[in-house]
Formats: sequence, structure tokens, C-alpha cells
Amino acid sequence: MGENMVQENSLEPSRGRMPVLYVGHGSPMNVIEDNPWSRGYARLRGLVPRPQAILAISAHWYVNGNYLTANARPPTIHDFGGFPQALYDIEYPAPGDPALAEQVRNLLGKERARLSEDWGLDHGIWTVLHWMYPEATVPVVQLSIDRRLSVREHYAIGRSLAVLRDQGVLILASGNIVHNLRDAFAQMQSGTAITPVWASQFDQAVKQALLTHDSEALLSLYPDTADGQLAHPTPEHWLPLLYVAGAADPRDSVSFPTEGFDLGSLSMRNVLFG
Ligand code: ZN
Repeated sequence: MGENMVQENSLEPSRGRMPVLYVGHGSPMNVIEDNPWSRGYARLRGLVPRPQAILAISAHWYVNGNYLTANARPPTIHDFGGFPQALYDIEYPAPGDPALAEQVRNLLGKERARLSEDWGLDHGIWTVLHWMYPEATVPVVQLSIDRRLSVREHYAIGRSLAVLRDQGVLILASGNIVHNLRDAFAQMQSGTAITPVWASQFDQAVKQALLTHDSEALLSLYPDTADGQLAHPTPEHWLPLLYVAGAADPRDSVSFPTEGFDLGSLSMRNVLFG
């Protein structure tokens, strides 16, 4: 679309170039709570043309290899423990898109990527889509994150996915730009929610790298900085951002529909390219 018109609630899927979206998913409780984060997911609907399909990348499918969900009906995976029954009762019955899974497999290379019916939609994806597209009619394919790859290799996969934008596919990645659960749980126990300096510094450094489309700066932030190590004791919640940054290009506008921290040190920043 050449203009900045927002196709709010349009039921007609877009065939134009799609934006690329990153969401901070945080606690699974966001799926049942009315809070700034869940309201932010609902708002995203009006900021993105209605996609033909969604290719989703989540911190919670972090395995040895690149797999694509090839199910016609991907199951809703309740991949968390110790939460209220209401969360386990929620299903997100979006259809899959086996043809898109096959196409992405070809894009990544048949020797690298495989189709799988062992996964479905994990909570990094469905707790967000539950708010964004509650009718669950947009087909969703999930791509796993190969834990054996370097940050540059993850970014390169994102680049190779960019062509999907021209066929109305929304690339949606879900992690958290700062994700230190040890700090967040300690704060929960002591009843505080203070954002540590290293957390806000890292979040701002990421924001700056994204605003300037500076992929070298972005890739230098983790794992090679002290703030990056504190922000991500493990890599899986960092890596999804590299897929959307890779699929973006310098022509894209960059915006942050939601910013802020939950539980002190969980950055809930969302990023929209294009
Ligand atoms: Zn998570």
C-alpha cells in the first residue's frame, strides 16, 4: 500500500508488501489479563494489513534444527506450568498452511529445513494472536529456531524470508528484548518492579540500532556485551528479533507500538517495520 491508511478490521487479505512484526510476549497471564500488554496486542490488528498467512518464530521452539509446522490444524501447545486452569482451557484453532510450510522449506534449503507434525502453536505465538486475531482464521505456520546457529546465521535466515512479504505473509517473531527471569522472579518475591540500569540500557541500545537499521550494531549487542549477557542469560528470547531485523530493509519505517517493562526486567517492547 502506498498510503498510510490503516485497514482496521478489514476482512480482505492484503496482497501488497507486508510489514514485519516483533512482539514481546512476557508472562502467559497476558492472555487472560486486561493490561497494557494485552491491549497492545489487540491494537496491532489495526496497524497491520490483514495477512494471507502468518509465518511465526517463537523463543519457545528452540531445537536442534529448522522445522516447519506442516499440520493442516496445528494444535495449541500449553507449554508452561503452574498457571491457572483458565490458560489451559484456551485453544487457538487457527488453520495451518502446509503449502506455505513447503515454500519456506524450499527458501531455507531442503537440506536445512524439515516439515514437522510434532509441534503446533506455542504460547509465544498464540497468547499474542488470541488478542490480535481472536477469530483465529488467518493460517499460521511456525518455524523453529535452530539452537546450533550463530547470531549472524539467524539474521541471514531472516533475510531469506523477506520475499514472503510480497505475497501477503506476515512474519511475526516473539521473544523479549530483555528477558532475565532470575531478576524478574527475585523482584516478584520482594514485591518490587524496578528496572535495572543494565536492562534499560540494553533496551535503549537495541531501540537505537533498530531505528537506524544498523544490523552490525544490533548483532554486536549479544552475546558480546556485559549488558547483553545480563539481558539474556540464555539466547532463545533474544534470537527472534534477528529474524524480523533480517526481513526488514532500510526503506521500512520503524515504530514501537508498545514499550515498557513488566516485572522490572522483562522488556515488553514491540517493533513494527514497514
Ligand atoms: Zn517466553
